[in-house]
Amino acid sequence: MSSAIWVVGSLNVDLTLSVPSLPRAGETVVGGQLQSRPGGKGANQAVACARQGAVTHLVAQVGRDFDTSWADRFAELGVQPHLRVSPTQPTGVALVMVEESGENLIGVFPGANAELSVSELPVHPGDLLLLQGEVAVEVNVAAAQAVKANGGKVVLNAAPAFLVPAEMPIDLLVVNELEFAVVGRDAAPWVVVTQGAAGATLLGPQGESQRQPGFPVRAADTVGAGDTFVGALAASWLTGQTLADAVRWACAAAAIAVTRPGIHEAIPTARQVADFLA
Ligand code: ATP
Repeated sequence: MSSAIWVVGSLNVDLTLSVPSLPRAGETVVGGQLQSRPGGKGANQAVACARQGAVTHLVAQVGRDFDTSWADRFAELGVQPHLRVSPTQPTGVALVMVEESGENLIGVFPGANAELSVSELPVHPGDLLLLQGEVAVEVNVAAAQAVKANGGKVVLNAAPAFLVPAEMPIDLLVVNELEFAVVGRDAAPWVVVTQGAAGATLLGPQGESQRQPGFPVRAADTVGAGDTFVGALAASWLTGQTLADAVRWACAAAAIAVTRPGIHEAIPTARQVADFLA
């Protein structure tokens, strides 16, 4: 049986309004297109893992209002959804306004994500748990401890940034530079700091540091670059690549994604990344 990635994290409805220019405080702008689609860092990163060919499970919580046809869409993208339904809270929502330049304003209502709890995770030795900062810290700690006890690896993308409790076992931390300033160096033996178009840096337990320059591409839409990077990194590491090779692979996957519009549909497959690097 091949090893799997378990993503325990958020699933939102992303409501995105395209506007000619972002409103200032107190201003109203009339938008053009309104799009409603599944999002949330947990869901996005699960799709990225699956697009990269990893056996991927997504454990998340939605409300009774959730459009169940979206669960089928996850399955079509290769993600095995394990969706709990909150009896009290509606599905989380991200309200996004985006102008033509790509600048955006985002407000998030956590909803059912805030009540996710994890009792059983049928994880096997060699499996990988992938976590983010959009569910309760206690849930992340409990899931990480359960997976470590079963001989699995834990990868945390601490986004949004939070102070990682000392009792949370993590093998690999992935953060951007702003998040790194909050979380710090000591949360995990291995840390990857992403640096936008400049690429990423891998920090090791012996004080080693390895830079991977970004791949020069014409960026069209950088939303979701971080989620593509994290999913591709986890999927590549799971196949036995060194972390340095996995970082290079993830930079390539994210570089391809920023050349394409959208989020899930922008994430490349493993074959496309291999062709890009060839
Ligand atoms: P997000 O905007 O998705 O929240 P983030 O802040 O989590 O992103 P970034 O450091 O901006 O993460 O980007 C993640 C990775 O994506 C980078 O390490 C890099 O490999 C790739 N990337 C981002 N922007 C570009 C770009 N313009 N050109 C090439 N690669 C890029």
